[in-house]
Amino acid sequence: MLAFKTKDEVFEKVISLEKPKCKYCGEEMSLWEVPDINVSDGLGWGTPYLFVCFNNECRLYAGGWKNIEENYGRRGSYRCICYPETETYECMSVWSPQGGQGQIIDEEVLKYRKILTEKTEKGMAALKEYKAAGNCQAVQHILLDAGEPAGVRMKAAQILGEIGVLDNIDPLRNSSFGNQVLRRTVEETVEMIHQRHFTRECPFCAEVIKKRAKICKHCGQEVNGK
Ligand SMILES: [Zn+2]
Ligand SMILES: [Zn+2]
Repeated sequence: MLAFKTKDEVFEKVISLEKPKCKYCGEEMSLWEVPDINVSDGLGWGTPYLFVCFNNECRLYAGGWKNIEENYGRRGSYRCICYPETETYECMSVWSPQGGQGQIIDEEVLKYRKILTEKTEKGMAALKEYKAAGNCQAVQHILLDAGEPAGVRMKAAQILGEIGVLDNIDPLRNSSFGNQVLRRTVEETVEMIHQRHFTRECPFCAEVIKKRAKICKHCGQEVNGK
């Protein structure tokens, strides 16, 4: 049943669950994001999130080192895990104190995710409105706002590619984007705006000129075929 839900949907559900207590030590367990594992390895957990006891004093974990050493001759231990959907408890092998390398989702992460989700929803709704109104200035403003979530800025770049005007080109060219994916998308955005307006940038002065221009009207350079 889990397989038909998106990871976000599962996340919404598991954060609403009460955190279970570890069977071995009674401590509240942490919500843990299972690291992505190639399913063909046969190692998949079948769930993107698990509850894990990360208490280093936990009986299972503290005693596990000796147990594994004796039985398997290698370093390792166990952490108590609990499946959110079925509330079944199991043991997970860990090979270092960090074990598993997944991400513990603590209160800070939850808060951050919530803010991010809200900001994204708000940004997307605003973009939809601006697009319908043909407000390229406002879309550009969102695209250049480093405080907006990356997903919203990507969407703004795509919209500007569809409806952007020549006045959008300079501000985009004059901005730097740390996010490589966003930077490439903005390149495409500028390219799309040029295509729709039959324009290009002068190779000498970078001003926008007609695609067919022979002489740049801004710097006077010959740009025919350049
Ligand atoms: Zn425990
Ligand atoms: Zn020029």
